[in-house]
Order: sequence, then structure tokens, then C-alpha cells
Amino acid sequence: MNLDILPVDNPKPGIGDEANLVFGKQFTDRMFVMEYDAGRGWHSARIQPYAPFTLDPAAMVLHYAQEIFEGLKAFRREDGSVVLFRPADNVARFNRSARRMCMPEVDEEFFLDAIRQLVRLEERWVPRSHGTSLYIRPTMIASEPMLGVRPADSYLCYVILSPVGAYYKGGIAPVKIWISDFYVRAAHGGTGEVKTGGNYAASLYAAREAAERGYDQVLWLDAKHKRYVEEVGSMNMCFVFDGKLVTSPLHGTILDGITRRSILTLAREMGLEVEERALTVDEIFEGVESGRLTEAFGTGTAVVVSPVGQFTYQGKTVRLGDGETPGEITRKLYDTLTGIQYGRLPDPHGWVVAV
Ligand code: PMP
Repeated sequence: MNLDILPVDNPKPGIGDEANLVFGKQFTDRMFVMEYDAGRGWHSARIQPYAPFTLDPAAMVLHYAQEIFEGLKAFRREDGSVVLFRPADNVARFNRSARRMCMPEVDEEFFLDAIRQLVRLEERWVPRSHGTSLYIRPTMIASEPMLGVRPADSYLCYVILSPVGAYYKGGIAPVKIWISDFYVRAAHGGTGEVKTGGNYAASLYAAREAAERGYDQVLWLDAKHKRYVEEVGSMNMCFVFDGKLVTSPLHGTILDGITRRSILTLAREMGLEVEERALTVDEIFEGVESGRLTEAFGTGTAVVVSPVGQFTYQGKTVRLGDGETPGEITRKLYDTLTGIQYGRLPDPHGWVVAV
């Protein structure tokens, strides 16, 4: 398939003050778009000026939420070059999501190349300050106008870009986590491991309750027993328990996070034993009290690593460390992963890809 590059007549002024970048609010001059129609396949691939779509009010995505997305980042390295972090993993996960949501898959090589070309054309939008990046959002929506629950016959696939600031302005700060004993995010057989909008819409109510009580994030427990740790908001969870790195296994209800994968590899290389098993809420509370649980953190593209300062469950709270400083292992993993991303450290795994 051809990729047309259309001109931009009215470029925006640019990022402005990098210190004031808000996550996901500002978008660049261009976007990638391609269209799918049953019988014809993907067509009309182009990089065009960033602009609203015209969608029929009956477009199936607006009614039955047939939608998937991804999230990855481009980093400006100290030598000025721009790189992506494990982008092929995101494209592969996009196709896994597409299959589960009965949507057409994309050609992974073509799609990855289109993302690279888009980022190359939008290079001036990759910020330069410490800890900043260009967030990349591939998306696919069902565009067919039709009221009826079945897979659509037509789709739009697009990629938009947003310059984002350093998540932690004053160094990595621990978050307060509320463990929900009522709401659930995903059950076995559901769509928990899929990056589809419905999962996030369904999480809003619990997140709002948590925010009203002064918490930063909701930690989800398994739907059946309400006992085992699953994941947090848009992060996978890791614990340092008995000196090992413990994280929930991938059994269909949580996202197979690319940061999680990277952190597990780095932890093993640091000599830590890694255990993929679901910790229970009791283990969190007893572990903190007995000193067996020494650190906890979330992992995800947006934050990289986010230390947890406290957990609250059914009115009971435990605190990790002084609530302000991340643990030693958390800090080391954060420094190593961001070091690889920004080119301060070597990249022995080939995770970093030039655009
Ligand atoms: N879990 C959920 C539900 C998420 O939305 C994300 C963000 N993509 C993650 C975990 C972390 O995944 P990744 O490390 O690939 O960003």
C-alpha cells in the first residue's frame, strides 16, 4: 500500500513552554490515517494535516464501542536524535486487541513504518527538556453507520501525537492507592487484556470515588475472589516481597504491559528473582507490617515507574517507606529504564529504535 504525504498549510506555532506541558492536551500538525472496507481491505493510507473526522451519528463505535488503541513514546536523546521504545511490541499488541474485538488487523511492518515516518515529519514536536517525550496514540474505530450489534464492515485507523511533560516534576513521588473491595475491572473470559476504550469507561466510577477520598489510583482485585492483586489504573503492579520482584501473571484479565516486560528483564539482570504470581491483599498488609514487603510500584508507558507510598483497603491503611522517597530497587529500575530510553545507558536488548 502507498503512503501519501499531504502538505500542511497552516502549521501551529509549536510546543511553547515545555515546563507547562499537560499530558494529552496538545496535538501536532499531522496525523496518519487509513481506511478499511470489507472486500477492499485497508486503503487510502496518508499522513495528512491533523483535523477532526466527519463521522455518521450511527457510526458503530459511538454505540457499541468497537474501538482499540495503543500508547507509546518517542524520546529526544542527549545527542538530539529521536527514538521509539519497543514500538514493534505496541504494534503487535494492537493486532492482538484487533483480533479480540473482531476488527481487521494491520500490516505490522507497514504500520510501524508509517508511525516512524509520522514522527520523523513531526520531529520539531519532540520536546527537549529532561523527562519529556512525544506520546504516540494509534487508534482504530468502527466507522460503519449501522445500528445492530455485530462487527462493523468499515473502520478508521489513525495515529495522533502529543508532546508530554515530565510526569514527575520534582523527582519520582510515591502515590496513594485505594484498593476496591466492590468494583471490578475485568473477569476471566472478558476483555481485561485488551486495550479497548470500554475497559477504561467502566473504571471511571471507582476512580472518581477514590479521588473523592483523596487517593491517586484504584488497585483492582480479581473479580472472582476479590483477593488477588490485578493491576492499577493504567499500570501493572510490582512488589518487592521477600527480596523478590513479584508481579501478577498474564492470564487474560490484565494488560501485557511493555514497561512490565522491560522491568522484569532489567530486574533479572540486576540479580533479582522474579515471581509471576498474584499477591493477595492480606499479603500486602501483613507483608508491610512484618517487613517482608519493602517496595511497591506501578509500571506503564506514561509514568515509566510509579512508587506506591500507601495502600488503603476497607478503611485500613499501610504505608511504605516515608511516603515521599521511592525505595532503592524502584529508583534503580526507574533510572535504568529511563537511562536506556534517553540514551544515557547502553541498550543491549535493542529496545530503542531510531525513527
Ligand atoms: N495496564 C493498563 C490497563 C494500561 O492501560 C496500561 C497502559 N498501556 C498498562 C497496564 C501499562 O502498559 P504499558 O507498559 O505497555 O504502557
